[in-house]
Amino acid sequence: MPHTDILTERKNFIGQGGGKTVCCDRDSVSGAVSQRACVYCGARVVLNPITDAYHIIHGPIGCSSYTWDIRGSLSSDDELYRNSFSTDLSEQDIVFGGAEKLTRAIDEVVAKHHPRLIFVYATCIVGVIGDDVEAVCRQAEQKYPLRCIPVKSPGFSGNKSYGYRMACEALMALIRPAPRPAGRLGVNLLGDFNLAGEIWIIRHYLEIIGIPIISTFTGDANYDTLMQSPQARLNLVQCAGSMTYLAGQMEEEFGIPFIKISFFGREDTSASLIRIAQALGDSGLIARARAFTQEQEARLLPFEQAWREGLAHKKAAIYVGGGFKAISLIRQFNAMGMETVIVGTQTGKAEDYELISQLVGPDTVILDDANPAELERFLKEKGADLLVGGVKERPLAYKLGLAFCDHNHERRHALAGYEGVRNFTREINLSLNSPVWSYMGGSI
Ligand code: SF4
Repeated sequence: MPHTDILTERKNFIGQGGGKTVCCDRDSVSGAVSQRACVYCGARVVLNPITDAYHIIHGPIGCSSYTWDIRGSLSSDDELYRNSFSTDLSEQDIVFGGAEKLTRAIDEVVAKHHPRLIFVYATCIVGVIGDDVEAVCRQAEQKYPLRCIPVKSPGFSGNKSYGYRMACEALMALIRPAPRPAGRLGVNLLGDFNLAGEIWIIRHYLEIIGIPIISTFTGDANYDTLMQSPQARLNLVQCAGSMTYLAGQMEEEFGIPFIKISFFGREDTSASLIRIAQALGDSGLIARARAFTQEQEARLLPFEQAWREGLAHKKAAIYVGGGFKAISLIRQFNAMGMETVIVGTQTGKAEDYELISQLVGPDTVILDDANPAELERFLKEKGADLLVGGVKERPLAYKLGLAFCDHNHERRHALAGYEGVRNFTREINLSLNSPVWSYMGGSI
C-alpha cells in the first residue's frame, strides 16, 4: 500500500487530542474507501440477533451473502436468525419489478417455517426500481397471523448510521402497539448483541444486584421479550451509536428514560452498575451495586498486577465502530499502563469525540470514518504496537506486523464485564508479546 497523503476533503475528519474535536457524523467522502458498511448492512447487524425473526433480503443474492451470519451473536434458543432468505433479484425482475417475487418469497417462508416475525430489507436495487415493499408487507400481515416489517435500507441512501436508524424505526414499528403497565422494576438493555455471550454475563451481574432485565435489543432477544420491552422502568444504552435513536423514541412514546452505560473495562463496568442502581432510585440496589463492584474489583486487582509488566509503555491504536467502545478502550489501556496513540471510529458523534480528545494526550491522532491508507500512515508514524479493530482491520495489522485484537463481530471470548477484563488483558498480552513478531523482518 503506497504511503499516500491525506485527501483534502478528509482533512477536517482527522485531528489530535487535547480537547480539540473533529468533523464527524457525515456521509463518507466519495472515493476515500471508507471502512464503513452500507445502510442495509447497518440495519441488518442491529436486527439480525433477534433469534426467532426471519430476515428476507429483497435484492440480489450478493446483498444477502454479504451479511450472512454476520453478527456472531449467541442465542439461548432458536438458531434460525443465522440464515439469510433472499429474493435473488435478477435482470428480468429489475426490468419488470420484483414485488411479486417478494410476495412469493414471504409465502414460501410462511409455508415452510410458520414465522411470527419477518423483516424485509430493501436493498440498493429496490431503491432504484421502486418496488413498494411496504405494501407487500402490509398485504402479508393481512394474509397471515404475523408481523412483517419493512426495513427501508437501500445501501446508497446514507451511511451506516442511517441503517442503524432504519433498524430502530423497524423495532419501533414492531413494539409500538404494546401497552405499558405501571409499576414494573426492570430494565431493557439496548445495543448489546450478545457477542460471545456477553449479555448473559451482564444479566448475571444485574440479577445479583436485584435488577431484572425485561428485554435486550437485540442480542438473544425474541418476539415475546421485545413486545414486553415497553413495560421497563429504564433503558440502558450500551452501543450508543446504534441505539440512542431507539432509546429517544421509547422515552417519547412510552415515557421510559434512558442512560448510557458501558460494560467494557473495570472502571466503566463498576461505574455503570452503580449508575443503573442510582437511576432506579432504590437505596437497597445502590448499596448492593457498591458492594458487588467493590468485591469484583478486589478480586481483579492481583490479576491486573500480574499481567501489567508485559504491557507497560506499549502503544495502542483503536479503530472501532462506535464512540462508546473507543472511550472504554482508552480507559482500559490507561489502566494497563499503555498509551493510546490513535483513536478512530466509524460512527462516533461530536460528544464522543469531545470526550475522546479529553481522555488522550495532545499527540494522539483522532480519526472519523478512516480508510486503510490513513490507518497505515498513522500506524507507522506513531509507532503503534497493537491495533484493536474488527474484521476489516485485521489484515492491515498483520501485513504491517502489528499485534491485533478483534473487538467486533468475530470474537469468540467475552470482552464485557470483569470476565471481559481478564480475557482482554490476556489476549492483548499474548498478542503483543508473541514471538511471531520477531520473524517479521524488523519493525514497521
Ligand atoms: S444494499 Fe447496496 S451497497 Fe449494500 S450490499 Fe446490497 S448492493 Fe451492496
